[in-house]
Amino acid sequence: MIQPKEEKTFVMVKPDGVQKGLVGEIIKRFEQRDLKIVALDMFLATREEIDNHYPKEEKWIRRLGEKTLSTYEKYGRDVTDLQKDFGSSDLLEVGKVVRGWLVSYLTSAPMVRMVVQGVHAVDMVRKIVGPTMPYLAEIGTIRGDYSADSAISANVDKRAVFNLAHASETTEEATHEIEYWFGDKKTIYTYKRFGIDE
Ligand code: ADP
Ligand code: MG
Repeated sequence: MIQPKEEKTFVMVKPDGVQKGLVGEIIKRFEQRDLKIVALDMFLATREEIDNHYPKEEKWIRRLGEKTLSTYEKYGRDVTDLQKDFGSSDLLEVGKVVRGWLVSYLTSAPMVRMVVQGVHAVDMVRKIVGPTMPYLAEIGTIRGDYSADSAISANVDKRAVFNLAHASETTEEATHEIEYWFGDKKTIYTYKRFGIDE
């Protein structure tokens, strides 16, 4: 079993987070919750890098379509509106369109990528970041405090939901993403946090 204090997760401050000047605020929220930044880097992603970062399985792409539909339904729209906005009501097709917007969004400006380590790092970081749709995110989460975006407003503008940061959802996703973004660079550090590691 992995040492509890050594669980790691992958986080990226997305272009809107960088452009809103929230890099420091986002890092601060992890550090104040006793999580440790063990790798950190600003970069401009290529379309290919983002395309390979997000899963290509149908199930994942369909889920993007499902997130759109559930927001539509909550606000009195339905599949016929999907047909109007996306040219299809097939959730896989909707997901493919959203995935394309996501690639454009994440290559539009620099991002900050990092590895965050600590007890239950994956779940803790997701909790601090908040759920995908900022309009549903609790006040006190990063997405809830600094954004109010939703699939409906994003889709009208033909863009992805702007939600400030990416964070791995599961330990498997974290392992894969850390290897993907930091694998060849060997820039993951080991150090002691006062009061936490001793
Ligand atoms: P999360 O980033 O919370 O893990 P997902 O992995 O489901 O969310 O989706 C990846 C990203 O795609 C989201 O962070 C968001 O920027 C964008 N996105 C997800 N669903 C939609 C949608 N229905 N419409 C527009 N953009 C979306
Ligand atoms: Mg995700």
